[in-house]
Amino acid sequence: MDTHKTVEHWQELSREAMQGMMSWREEHPKASLGEIEKTLDGHIMKLRAQMLEDAAQLSEMREWSQSAAVPICPDCKAALEFRIKGKRELQTQGGYSIRLERDYGICPSCGQGFFPPG
Ligand SMILES: [Zn+2]
Repeated sequence: MDTHKTVEHWQELSREAMQGMMSWREEHPKASLGEIEKTLDGHIMKLRAQMLEDAAQLSEMREWSQSAAVPICPDCKAALEFRIKGKRELQTQGGYSIRLERDYGICPSCGQGFFPPG
């Protein structure tokens, strides 16, 4: 993943969130502080989930490409085989779900599947 492109993507997402917040404010000139705060939280949480997803992908790539140690099955102590791409869905604060695409390890001995920690 290109980190520079990721930052540009975040800037774009931030701009959308800020503009969305301002449009909402203009459409709700009489909104209470509580309503404004709730709407702002919604925008921030959405942005947060998107950034978290992107940032998590970066650490995974590092983890797999630079890790010297091959993870092993805790039961059989056999080196896991990493042929399968899996998608893991995680819930974040604010109720947004993010999907992480990651290498998925299979134990050649017992067939258990593992995602790397994190
Ligand atoms: Zn095993």
